Amino acid sequence: MSQLHVPFLDLPGQNHALKKDILKEWEGLLDCAGFIGGAAVENFEEEFGKTIGAAHCISVNSGTDALRFILIGLGLEPGDEVITVPNTFIATTEAISQAGGRPVFVDIDPETCNIDPECIEQAITPRTRGIIPVHLYGQPAEMDTINAIAARHDLWVVEDACQAHLAEYKGEKTGTLAAAAAFSFYPGKNLGACGDAGAVTTNDTALADRIRMIKDHGQRTKYYHEIEGYNGRCDAVQAAALSTKLPYLASWNEARRGHAGKYHELLKDVPELQLPICRPENLHAYHLFVIQVPDRDELMARLLKKGISTGLHYPVPLHLQEAYLNLGYKTGSFPITEKAASRILSLPLFPELTTTQIVHVCNSIKETLNCP
Ligand SMILES: *Cc1c(COP(=O)(O)O)cnc(C)c1O
Repeated sequence: MSQLHVPFLDLPGQNHALKKDILKEWEGLLDCAGFIGGAAVENFEEEFGKTIGAAHCISVNSGTDALRFILIGLGLEPGDEVITVPNTFIATTEAISQAGGRPVFVDIDPETCNIDPECIEQAITPRTRGIIPVHLYGQPAEMDTINAIAARHDLWVVEDACQAHLAEYKGEKTGTLAAAAAFSFYPGKNLGACGDAGAVTTNDTALADRIRMIKDHGQRTKYYHEIEGYNGRCDAVQAAALSTKLPYLASWNEARRGHAGKYHELLKDVPELQLPICRPENLHAYHLFVIQVPDRDELMARLLKKGISTGLHYPVPLHLQEAYLNLGYKTGSFPITEKAASRILSLPLFPELTTTQIVHVCNSIKETLNCP
C-alpha cells in the first residue's frame, strides 16, 4: 500500500489558489513603487477592522510588535507587572519585557489550556498593571471573568488574539473583548501574510492614535517626532496579500471547524486521548487541534513514520525556558501547564486538509495505540 503523506500545514496549496490575484496586486505595487503605507495598507486596515468589528485597526509588522506597541501605548513602566500564561509563544512575554515590564505567570485550565481565571487574583500585587489572556489554539479565554477581575483591581486587559482570527466569545469577536488586541499574520496563522505582518484592534481612539505614532518613529507628520518610536509598519506588499486572502478567512475557519468535528467523531472512543473541548459560549477558530496523550513522543515518532507530520505548541513552558531563569520560577511552579506540555500533540489542521487525510491520521493513531 502506498503511503499517504499528511503535512502539518499546506501553505503552498493555499497560495496556489490565490496566486494570480496576489500577483496582480503586487504588479500594481511594483509599477508605482508604493511599498510603505498608501492605499493597500489603508484598505487592509479598514477591511480587517470592519471584519472584526473594532473601531480601529492599526497594521504593524508582526504580532509581536502588535503586543509590544499596545503595552508601550498603555504606558507600561519599568517594573510594572503583567499577568499571563506560561504556555504561550514567547512573543507574549517578549512584548511585556521589551515594553519595560515583568511577566508574571499563572497556571491554566486543564481542559481548554487557556488562563485559569481562578489563579489570577492571587498573582496580583501593587505593581500589577494588566492581564494578557491568550486565546490559545483559537479558543477565546473566559473574558467576562477576566474583565471583571481586572475592573475590581483597576487593571487593563489586552487580548493576545494571534491564534484566534474571527473566533467568538458569547457572540462577540475576539479583538473587541478588551482594551486592545494583537493579531499575527505570520504565514501559518489562520490569516497569513507572505512574510511577517500583524495588527492591533481597539475601540479606544486615544490608544489607537498613540499606537499609530509608536509604530512609525513617533511621528504623525513626517520628520516631526513627538516621541521616539519604532519602525514597525506593515508594508503594502503584505497588506495587499492580506486583503486578497481576507474574504476567504470565514470559510477557511468553517473548514477548520469541520475538520475538527471529523477528528472528534473518529477519535472520541480512544480511551488514552484527551480531545480538545470547545466551551459552549465560544466559536473556536481552530488554529490548532491539540490532543493530549500519555506517550506523546512515542506517538509523534510513530505517526511521522506513517507519513504524518504533527507539531508541539509548545514543548517547554516559558517559565522553564533558559531566557526566563531570571524570573525565578522552577519545575513545579505551574503543574497543570507542565503536565500539559508533556502530553500535547498538535494534529495536522488546515482548510485544505481532506477527509481521506483525516481518516488516515485517526486510523494511524488508533493503530499505534492498539485500539480496535
Ligand atoms: C504567532 C503568535 C504571536 C506572535 O506573532 P508574530 O507575528 O510571529 O510576531 C504572539 N502570540 C501568539 C500566541 C502567537 O501564536
